[in-house]
Amino acid sequence: MCPSKKKVLMIYTGGTIGMVPGEHGYTPSPEALSKALENIRDLNQPTAPTWELLEFHPLLDSSDITVKEWNKIGRTIAEHYASYDGFVVLHGTDTMAYTAAALSFMLENLDKPVILTGAQIPLCEMRSDGYDNIINSVLLAASDKLCEVCLYFNGTLLRGNRSTKLSSDRLGAFDSPNYPHLAECGIQIQFHDQALLQPQAGPFRLQEFEEIPIGVLKVFPGIQLQLFESIMTKKLHGVVLETFGAGNIPSSQNALLPVIEKAHRSGCVLTVCSQCPQGAVSLGTYETSQGLIRTGAVSGHDMTTEAAVAKLYYLFSRYADPETVKEKMGNNLRGELTQ
Ligand code: ASP
Repeated sequence: MCPSKKKVLMIYTGGTIGMVPGEHGYTPSPEALSKALENIRDLNQPTAPTWELLEFHPLLDSSDITVKEWNKIGRTIAEHYASYDGFVVLHGTDTMAYTAAALSFMLENLDKPVILTGAQIPLCEMRSDGYDNIINSVLLAASDKLCEVCLYFNGTLLRGNRSTKLSSDRLGAFDSPNYPHLAECGIQIQFHDQALLQPQAGPFRLQEFEEIPIGVLKVFPGIQLQLFESIMTKKLHGVVLETFGAGNIPSSQNALLPVIEKAHRSGCVLTVCSQCPQGAVSLGTYETSQGLIRTGAVSGHDMTTEAAVAKLYYLFSRYADPETVKEKMGNNLRGELTQ
């Protein structure tokens, strides 16, 4: 083996890419993926990086991924960190953006690429997009340019904690509407150097997540917030509020603010995100967002809901004091928001 050959660890967690048709629809099948990989000529060429596959048991549809599996992926990367140059996490598309965001916070001072990918069509079917996604992800995971958690899909490399699943049926399922693509994989792999995260000072460290009670609340016209009062109790550590436009909520004749105020007084960290995939929260631009400022809610700026959820888990697992969590929630930690 050539001494400079890069080593990539692929971690298969489940998801469409390695699924097979079952009695009740597609389901992950042990070893289906490893067999398919053996037949991918590009991965087995002398010029390809060396790779190994580690398959989780059980394999999951990503709708079943929880904090427990995020920790398992994080631990697997940490345990093999010194032995590989990069990592590819093969994952279902449904919650891939959440896992990408979670790993971006969990893997502190990362100085190697971690690429999440999957497929819309399983490898066992014709026209599977999994082939391109795996081959390019392995090449990207062997790149010296990347030291962050990314998501690769359909020719495009995205920052993991900026990505969101936008389509359930297009092959281009993901985008990062508030951040430039990190690279395009056309005839050449073209990196957008200015968009890449720079290496952080300090040693690599894994921060596992705790199962923190948090919530996501999407406002809609006519929302009867009093119905939510019973769940906005002291037990809830943080809430991501998905508001209209630039951070607006229904104002008059509505019990929203008192409920939010009460939650805030009991230590709950309220983060304001927007229902618009593109653009940022700008609290105070409209009268309908003034109340949120008074209640002490934090602006999530242009963060995705996926990133805000993962960040709440991370910060409450890392810091005991809600005031510290609140302060850091509005700050840019891993390129997840534009301040
Ligand atoms: N339900 C599947 C999953 O998220 C969808 C996919 O992988 O595309 O595991």
